[in-house]
Amino acid sequence: MDWLKLAESRKEELISELQQLIQIESVLDEESATEDAPFGQGPLKALQFMLSKGEQQGFQTKNVDNVAGHIEMGAGDDLLGILCHVDVVPVGDSWTYPPFKGELVDGKLFGRGAIDDKGPTIAAWLAMKMVKDAGVSLNKRVRMIIGTDEESGFRCVTHYFTKEQMPTIGFAPDADFPLINAEKGIALLNFSQKAQVTADEQIIAFQAGQRSNMVPDHAKAIIQNVTSGVEEEFQQFLEENTTEGTFIQDEGRYIITVKGKSAHAMEPEKGRNAAVLLAKFLINYITTPASNQFLSFIVNTFGEDYKGTKMKLDFEDIMSGPTTLNPGVILFHHERGGHIQVSMRYSVSYPFEEKMTEATKVVSDLGFALDVTSNSIPHYVPEEDELVQTLLKVYRKYTGDESKPLSTGGGTYARTMKKGVAFGMLFPGEPDVAHQSDEYVWIDHLVKAAAIYAETIVELAGK
Ligand SMILES: [Zn+2]
Repeated sequence: MDWLKLAESRKEELISELQQLIQIESVLDEESATEDAPFGQGPLKALQFMLSKGEQQGFQTKNVDNVAGHIEMGAGDDLLGILCHVDVVPVGDSWTYPPFKGELVDGKLFGRGAIDDKGPTIAAWLAMKMVKDAGVSLNKRVRMIIGTDEESGFRCVTHYFTKEQMPTIGFAPDADFPLINAEKGIALLNFSQKAQVTADEQIIAFQAGQRSNMVPDHAKAIIQNVTSGVEEEFQQFLEENTTEGTFIQDEGRYIITVKGKSAHAMEPEKGRNAAVLLAKFLINYITTPASNQFLSFIVNTFGEDYKGTKMKLDFEDIMSGPTTLNPGVILFHHERGGHIQVSMRYSVSYPFEEKMTEATKVVSDLGFALDVTSNSIPHYVPEEDELVQTLLKVYRKYTGDESKPLSTGGGTYARTMKKGVAFGMLFPGEPDVAHQSDEYVWIDHLVKAAAIYAETIVELAGK
């Protein structure tokens, strides 16, 4: 079967359905949420749209409590899952094209959700229709599972899988080609200072970052009782570190801010932690024990190192690369001491318990207690696995691209399945415009992805 030619011949239908889906403003809306529309009206409408398409084309469909649903074909005990989502992130500003229209310009279709994840959803949907219309007989059930809360914590599929069968194998067209088979574990570590603070702490307050999953790009400290000349040396520090900051004197106190560079916690090396910068400057002036201990901890454990080496948390493997740490929220208060929240993205074969026990001892000697506040375990399907091999084979046939499977420090939708991988549909080298303004998808890529998904379905579930 020439799936590419078939997909090409149904391009108008694909574009039209994608435009209709993009025109549904399916952003999470807690305010308009009701018992019948747990994530608001938009996400529900988008789900209903897909299910009604499925019904019209003679597929089995099911709506699971208005949070997720599925479209199914084929027969058999085994289930092949294709995991998609129809909710989108808020629009933001500075769009050139209307975000909820689906305008076509020079071979691209613009709109919120074009690449994440309405475009890939419609491509996979066309693939299912092509396989059905071609009369291919299947030895598995093939089920597109449609979530409506991927962007805000996967509550959709979490609920769905409490009621519905877990697919035997599956893929999620919600990330990159060729495929992602290794997703690191994501743990949230809390470091709290054990030392007693004293009434005359030189640091009154220190604050950087709002969320553990971003590198803080701004840090602020209020300090007192420091030697004169701080201001001049601060200006020099800024120059030496080619960054910006502010220095305000306020009744014997100094308010100091420093700028860093933001980045996602899964790639902390791409950012510049403002808290580390500020701590490096302050450590020369701060001598009261608790304040000094806090600054030393930041500089020594996170200073030149995002791999956790000083705390013996470092580890790496070939499947998923190095473990990385991002101190995303860093606080000190003169009555409560220091608190640091770290998002750790750890390699798939990480000996977690052992490492935590070891690190707890190390940081204890530095005056800090370590708690694991949350832990989402790694997700991994070996490269030799038949699922991975089949997807790679089909992808390579249609693209000629021999790229190796990928790993990620972020969590993709695929990790909600027992044995699933992320499979497209961003092609290698393409800019990732998901969540950006002027989000778009190439029409040619939608067509090619539909062909790839159709052949994949036949390879995995055909008789
Ligand atoms: Zn997505």
